Amino acid sequence: AKALVTGANGYLAVWVVRRLLEAGYSVRGAVRSESKGAHLKKIFAAYGDKLELAIVEDITKDGAFDEAVQGVELVEHTASPFHFAANDPDELIIPAVRGTTSVLESVKKYGSSVKRVVITSSIVAVFGPYTGSVVFDESNWNDHSVIEVREKGAAAGGYTKYQASKTLAEKAAWAFVDQNKGRISFDIVTINPPWIFGPPIHELNSLDQLNTSQSEILDTISGKKATKADLEQEGSWVDVRTVAAAHVAAAQKAEAGGQRIITSTGTFIWQDVLDVANAISPAPFKNIPKGSPGAGKTFPHTLLYDTSREARLLGLTHVPFEQMVVDSVADFKARGYSQ
Ligand code: NDP
Repeated sequence: AKALVTGANGYLAVWVVRRLLEAGYSVRGAVRSESKGAHLKKIFAAYGDKLELAIVEDITKDGAFDEAVQGVELVEHTASPFHFAANDPDELIIPAVRGTTSVLESVKKYGSSVKRVVITSSIVAVFGPYTGSVVFDESNWNDHSVIEVREKGAAAGGYTKYQASKTLAEKAAWAFVDQNKGRISFDIVTINPPWIFGPPIHELNSLDQLNTSQSEILDTISGKKATKADLEQEGSWVDVRTVAAAHVAAAQKAEAGGQRIITSTGTFIWQDVLDVANAISPAPFKNIPKGSPGAGKTFPHTLLYDTSREARLLGLTHVPFEQMVVDSVADFKARGYSQ
């Protein structure tokens, strides 16, 4: 079978392309320009013409994917801006929402062979404000971020703007399916991961250009996260290789159709990253901060996710936290980090 992967040059997407090729798929990778596809062609050269590129310059244009969807059975839509530095919220919201709806419209019109569209959503489309301790599941929606961005516009926080973009994009996808019942011959799955970490294989010329999530691991190792408040900020995480496998499983498991699926390995605090890095022997770098060793072991996590749907439908083998940190450290070292 052939799969279209949008944003194929991204941190997560290159792993998705790799896992698809390994699983026997042919892949059409959509990127914004020929030059953004060169690295993909290079690292997957062994797959020959099982990997082809499609140039989609502007994903927000109507019909942007009209050609790219033709002749594929599967679409993996990962393209979406992921950063916290947008001033105008539309910088994130327009490509997130229109990118999603234009893929779906193109599949409806020209993707008669497409059976399923897997969409990379996020846990930020799920969670919301809470008090005490909470377990969110797939019935929850982050409407709060949308309301806040509507009220505050550019003055809303960068992270909130990103949350709103992912929430609106995923809602647009489900609304599309709803409005086109009986008129489309494919279903959709959304994958909703928390922080994605682990070694990058996309084009990365220097560690300054590390993607938004993995740069947080480097900031922890390098001591940029220095205060107790920084190091004991809680979160949930999943390895990039686990999420890539989830995108393949979501395509292959019939029962996954029509579901949003939280794909999370577990909770962590940044201190946990330091503890694993400091236990590596011989020490990979001279100056890894110590922080408060072991603080994560007794940390009272309050923000939890129900991952039973993922376990039931996708049956993934999760890359463990220790391996994610060890592999990340090895990757930083290989790219010349030496402090
Ligand atoms: P990257 O920034 O590495 O990849 C983003 C991809 O989207 C790139 O291919 C990028 O293309 C493309 N893209 C971004 N903006 C546009 C635009 N305006 N028009 C066309 N293409 C665009 O990020 P990740 O790999 O981390 O993110 C991939 C997906 O995973 C996103 O949907 C993100 O929201 C989601 N996600 C990520 C998490 C994480 O922790 N990393 C957690 C949960 C969800 P280009 O290189 O040309 O800019």
